[in-house]
Amino acid sequence: MHAGARTKMPKGLELLTLGIDLGGSKILTAIVNPRGEILSSDESITPATKGREAVIQSILNSTHHVLKKASVAISEIYAIGVGVAGISNPETGILFTSPNLPELRDVPLRDIMQERLGKKTFVINDANAAVLGEFYFGAAQGAHNFIYITLSTGIGGGIVIDGKIYTGAIGAAGEVGHMTIDDNGPICNCGNRGCWETLASGTALAREAKHRIKEGFRTSILEYAEGDVEKVTAQVIHSAAKHGDSLAKELIAQTGYYIGVGLANLINIFNPELIVIGGGLSNIGDMLLKPAFKTAGERAYKEAFQAVRFASAGLGRNSGVLGAAAFALKEVRKLHCK
Ligand SMILES: [Zn+2]
Repeated sequence: MHAGARTKMPKGLELLTLGIDLGGSKILTAIVNPRGEILSSDESITPATKGREAVIQSILNSTHHVLKKASVAISEIYAIGVGVAGISNPETGILFTSPNLPELRDVPLRDIMQERLGKKTFVINDANAAVLGEFYFGAAQGAHNFIYITLSTGIGGGIVIDGKIYTGAIGAAGEVGHMTIDDNGPICNCGNRGCWETLASGTALAREAKHRIKEGFRTSILEYAEGDVEKVTAQVIHSAAKHGDSLAKELIAQTGYYIGVGLANLINIFNPELIVIGGGLSNIGDMLLKPAFKTAGERAYKEAFQAVRFASAGLGRNSGVLGAAAFALKEVRKLHCK
């Protein structure tokens, strides 16, 4: 499974796994070989408000679709891995709660999938699935102590310690986006105040720009948002910054600063060898990340900062399905070795 130990098998006898990335807005499904190559994939909308059976039916439809596309029978699938947005217990495969899938509460997802498809199934948190994707096939290959963060509308993450994903007591570890950065900061979706994602995410960046525009600040940002303040997004602000808008540049640098404060905390707590950064917001690149690394360097322990390497996530949107598939393969092999 690991990069150095590739399975050599004639075509058709490979251990194929089915990876599923179940998110609040979309379901990504893929058939994956042990080298992390995707044989076929499918994307569908998550019927999040239509109830549990509708979501499960969508997963099954998507599964049949990828099997057909790759001309693979379900009997040829070795195991199934499901990465799901929310808190689930990897041991029991029960999804407790998912903020983006409110209809799915206390669902025995693993058992349902096993029953419907007749294949061993393993359930993991979606951020942890993405971490494993990067670990086995992406930017974190060969690293033993690393942290993965996704800078997006929120901030997600995962922690690998001594080559193993750290899931905590109930599978809720790695919620890096909800560490408090400013105790008087903006209210977060989680109910707390001043969480990292309220200050350093794409949503935070857009909120600050909207605020300044409404105050009457002179900026060209609106021109990139069809003149509608509600259409101001991180992407819009980035476009304005690339064309020299000083407010856009200032706000991106400020977001970078807050990213750096959180990075310094993570570096001091975990002393990672590597921090992998993914998510749409990180595509802004140097304008955002240079101030982030500068701030992290100023705030973290010098030796710990010097020991850390930063890398961009390598798998993009496929990290979750690839990681879920890899997780399933690893877990099912463990069972066979017992
Ligand atoms: Zn929070």
